[in-house]
Amino acid sequence: MAPKKGDLTEGEKELIRAISKGTVEEAGQLLGSKDVRVNCLDEHGMTPLMHAAYKAKADMCKLLLKHGAEVNCNEHEHGYTALMFAGLSGKKDIVWMMLEAGADPDVLNSVGRTASQMAAFVGQHDCVTVINNFYPREKLDYYTKPQGLSKEPKLPVKLAGPLYKIITNTNLHPVKIVFLVKENPLLMETDALKKCSHVLDLICEKCMKQQDMNEVLAMKMHYISCILQKCSTYIQEKEDKLDTLIKSLLKGREPDCFPVFQEKFIRESIRKFPYCEATLLQQLVRTIAPVEIGCDPTAFSVLTQAITGQMGFMDAEFCTTCGEKGASKRCSVCKLVTYCDQNCQKLHWFTHKKICKILKEKREKQELEDAKEKLKAQDEATSEESTAPTEAASESNTELSQETETGDSPAAEEAKDVSDEPGSTSPSEVPTGETNLSHAPNESEE
Ligand SMILES: [Zn+2]
Ligand SMILES: [Zn+2]
Repeated sequence: MAPKKGDLTEGEKELIRAISKGTVEEAGQLLGSKDVRVNCLDEHGMTPLMHAAYKAKADMCKLLLKHGAEVNCNEHEHGYTALMFAGLSGKKDIVWMMLEAGADPDVLNSVGRTASQMAAFVGQHDCVTVINNFYPREKLDYYTKPQGLSKEPKLPVKLAGPLYKIITNTNLHPVKIVFLVKENPLLMETDALKKCSHVLDLICEKCMKQQDMNEVLAMKMHYISCILQKCSTYIQEKEDKLDTLIKSLLKGREPDCFPVFQEKFIRESIRKFPYCEATLLQQLVRTIAPVEIGCDPTAFSVLTQAITGQMGFMDAEFCTTCGEKGASKRCSVCKLVTYCDQNCQKLHWFTHKKICKILKEKREKQELEDAKEKLKAQDEATSEESTAPTEAASESNTELSQETETGDSPAAEEAKDVSDEPGSTSPSEVPTGETNLSHAPNESEE
């Protein structure tokens, strides 16, 4: 029997208060008492789990789920589910938790929107990515059991964990996927990789043939399968633990350092998608085919956008080597490329070193121009505001290269923002200088 809306006991009211303001212990105690139902509904039809998800309280969500909270309750007045609230809160981990607990991502709210669309609407793109890339573990585990007449399962049980990690990873950069293969010794075998790749092909087929066809997931599985096949070939042919493959994927051409092999590999993988009638395939090919190699958009960015729903790459820094989001270390010489860490930087140096100096010169020229612009702007600002303190003006004249403490007129602020950009990481965070960088990756590795 479903609880009635707004029909809350004192304990339940207390629980909802505890979720927003109290501690997990408090909530736990309340959940232990007899007059508290974990799926009670407030006057808007919100369950305690919805409250916890909306308030972005991961611990509370975990506790409620442990106490049997119904993740797909759909009694909310606007048809919102806990997953929708999680998406609105912007917390990826809570979105993930809801999905793992069995949240149905296809449920629509009262205006016909899914959780993923709602999250996108409020700009929570990380949550959109998590929802669109979710694949339940049970579905993969299906392949670890022998089916039909065969005695052997298609996927050895020990490979399910490592493969699951790869397919639920939301960064589709080929180098990142090779990293994930490399980090697990169980996957570093031709036979294991072939099995994984075959299972992904089967999942791809299932996605295309099931009633509610999922082209996005099918494309993702196919693409990862292509990378695993490539890894398998390289492991067979070269005894260097995939280093040659990583190098090939990163190697930039002259003179702009564009990774041609990587671009061609991704394009070819997309083209090899076995269901040529698929709308998504046609869209991707139409977008990519007219683009000359080396121009924007890259196949990687087009594919990423199609699969994860991530729009553009403006709001965060991405690692030049592996495409991981939130990369914050800059090359200390040119300051124009970012990396996750020194490892990623070392891997890229063999090709980046060819253009690092040129980039540096370009940046310095740009900075000089920006500084001139800024000075001009400040001059204009001071002449307009004759009452401006004279100190500010003289300071900015003498300290051209320092961006701190300049005049605070809007024009000056703007100029400051621009010239600030390349150096925004503090010097101490940056991987050490040129001399350290010039080690070839292979010498310093392992
Ligand atoms: Zn990286
Ligand atoms: Zn550089």
